[in-house]
Amino acid sequence: MTKNTLVFRAHSSSRYSVAALLGAIEIDERLTNLDVKAPINDYQDVISNSIRHGVCIVAYSVMSTQTHRVQHEVSVLRQEYGKQLILVGGGPHASARPRDLLNWGFDYVIIGEGERTFPDLVHRLVTRDDPAGIEGVVSNIRENYPRPKDLSQIKLDNYPPFAIEMNVVGPIEVTRGCPFSCKFCCTPYLTGGRVRHRSIENVLYWVDRAVRERGFRRTWFLSPNALCYGGHGRSVELDKLERLVRGVSGINGLEEVYFGAFPSEVRPEFVSKKALEILRQYVANKTIQIGVQSGSDKVLEISNRHHTVAEGINGVQVALECGFIPHVDIIFGLPGEREDDLRASIDLCYELVDMGAKVHGHVFMPLPGSAFENMPPGRLDEESRKHLGELSRKGVLTGSWAQQEILADELAQKNDI
Ligand code: SF4
Repeated sequence: MTKNTLVFRAHSSSRYSVAALLGAIEIDERLTNLDVKAPINDYQDVISNSIRHGVCIVAYSVMSTQTHRVQHEVSVLRQEYGKQLILVGGGPHASARPRDLLNWGFDYVIIGEGERTFPDLVHRLVTRDDPAGIEGVVSNIRENYPRPKDLSQIKLDNYPPFAIEMNVVGPIEVTRGCPFSCKFCCTPYLTGGRVRHRSIENVLYWVDRAVRERGFRRTWFLSPNALCYGGHGRSVELDKLERLVRGVSGINGLEEVYFGAFPSEVRPEFVSKKALEILRQYVANKTIQIGVQSGSDKVLEISNRHHTVAEGINGVQVALECGFIPHVDIIFGLPGEREDDLRASIDLCYELVDMGAKVHGHVFMPLPGSAFENMPPGRLDEESRKHLGELSRKGVLTGSWAQQEILADELAQKNDI
């Protein structure tokens, strides 16, 4: 008997996208007979078992920091199975560099949001219909590709945040898109400048189901700037923010709500006593993730951050006064950063730590899709490395800056810098 299979190669780097895309597959009535698997390990065994029974689609969501691994795996799969399987790629790197994926051997690449496109493509493939013409799907090398912002955008409420039937669950994306254009960030390119929110009713519906059906005891949220929930992205909407966190925290059986903590972040100028006092009443997180990014106003301006170092410090102070431990993101090696700017960022780390905050240190990576994608990779000098090591040993600074330096170099080489 024919059995068509979708094997979504799960990996820790893309687990949130996998959960959302499998959720979109799960609710699609055209695909109820599809056998869906999301192996983290032994994916080759799963593929070789599936290939004998019908169409086998292998899907990847590709981050720009994972290209080596994916390229290698695709090459092994092609050698092993040739054209017996159909390879579909999506995710941030696919949207920014679709040509890369096609060159590695993917048959189809999805540019932009996958919730609508991915089930449409899978349906055409299993019914052996021609996928040509699906918006955002490309299958051959050409001069130009559509950009995510040129494509139509989904409404978050129309799709589940995760795959509850398959029990592939995770945080709930409450906001997509960002009106800011920080030059080191690829979010505006990938998700657009218009902010879209999942409605409070929809969030409550999914959390309630996750509690009842999957034993969720805690929930957390994804947002480019958690304190912008409910508005146009440039201000805090206190009423909507409160209704969201109060509503979620009131769900029977749910013990903890995390909001504004990693993997979400908040912009420092959005931090206010009023907003954090609301959060303090309902959320379980002791920390709040604040993006200050540099200790140099000049570098913040070059990066198009639209806030100052003083606003950053003020946000941290307010968070401390409201009972949160601020975890502050700082990026070293941003374009335009000179030695005195780097020193200012290191000094800021010490100042923040003295105030009671913790620092999350990063090294600038020229991410595809960001305005800085062609800029030189970030580098730390010996002195900064020494200071970061010291703060890290004291337990007040975390981050993978050494690994990010390597990744930044690799990205820059691919960008031919
Ligand atoms: S860093 Fe944050 S605020 Fe800036 S563009 Fe990216 S998501 Fe928006």
